[in-house]
Amino acid sequence: MPDIIGRRQFNLGLGATAALLGNAGTLATAGAKAPYRGPNVIIVRFGGGVRRRETIDPKHTYAPFLAHKLVKRGVLIPNMMIENLEGLNTSHAEGTLNILTGRYMSWRDAGSKILEDRLEPIEPTLFEYFRKAYAVPAHRTLLINGEDRPQEEFFAFARHKHYGIKYRSENLSLYRYKLFKFRKILAERSADEAELKKAQAEYDKLKSMDYRGVGIKQTRELERFWENWRKDYRDSGLINPRGDRLLTELALRAMKTLRPALMMINYQDPDYVHWGNKSHYTRAISIIDKGLERIVELADRNPFYRRRTIFVIVPDCGRDANPLTALPFQHHFNTRSAHEIWTLIFGPNIVRDKTYDRQFDQSQMASTIGAMMGMRTPRADGRAIGGIFT
Ligand SMILES: [Zn+2]
Repeated sequence: MPDIIGRRQFNLGLGATAALLGNAGTLATAGAKAPYRGPNVIIVRFGGGVRRRETIDPKHTYAPFLAHKLVKRGVLIPNMMIENLEGLNTSHAEGTLNILTGRYMSWRDAGSKILEDRLEPIEPTLFEYFRKAYAVPAHRTLLINGEDRPQEEFFAFARHKHYGIKYRSENLSLYRYKLFKFRKILAERSADEAELKKAQAEYDKLKSMDYRGVGIKQTRELERFWENWRKDYRDSGLINPRGDRLLTELALRAMKTLRPALMMINYQDPDYVHWGNKSHYTRAISIIDKGLERIVELADRNPFYRRRTIFVIVPDCGRDANPLTALPFQHHFNTRSAHEIWTLIFGPNIVRDKTYDRQFDQSQMASTIGAMMGMRTPRADGRAIGGIFT
């Protein structure tokens, strides 16, 4: 059984947040929207499916910053599980929604036969809980996504009558940038005819991927973000980084300019191991580790983030452990190790240098983050993890 905490400990969590806020009056209550003065929370999906062995195991890690340095700053939970439920797939979109909603299988298929795997959350995400509780604009809640997982673009809000699009987060990704860029090229009309034709085709294709009809509309702040991005990468001749390195760049720039109070970075590249090459997997883990180092380093010195930012690092899913199969390192076959994940939490008011050797569950992440941020997460199933707050 996953370890859950009682009401008293949950209140301790909220109390800890209130203490950090320095003002219990800012704790969110129904109806009144208070400005948010609690800790910033950065969720790092150590994703694309990773095993404990290559990440948090100090002897076998490919993420030395995580396994040797960061663990000393907080609470490591080496034994977190994705519950073994019938019909539950241990995969990337699913794990992301488990983390964001605190419930398993909290989505419906919004796709068609042509557009497969178009998940749509039907339970509120952390972004919605946060923006419903506090007066926080959309651009200060960010989902940072990889380029070849278009469906994750649409996890910013749920189809839910009390939550939904009104409380959505904004998204940063190459997908969003390309939408912006081709829209601009078409509006400017300074390119030659062939280029305009190509831009129109690209734009139409990107728009057709937007199965929830929200990709085009972005706030003024996001428009400015992409304008600056375009200036830097077009006029300077710099090459846009790709893959998980791009996610790191987007996160760093967002922290300097948009200052998100709640941000989730959906790293994904260890998943390239699906084609069977182990080094794609281990190299991708190192790239995430380096990205993590830069993001933590910025948070440590930036006045907006320093001493008031909690990091929550958690994989979307594990991976198979049997090396003798034709294609090792998969995660769709319901093996035990595909369910085995972990989490590391560190920041103000979080216990330091502790390995918490009890079993917890991925569905507890949302209510745990809710406790950190002083907001309730009534639709989350998993209870907040106790014993991590000082
Ligand atoms: Zn995968």
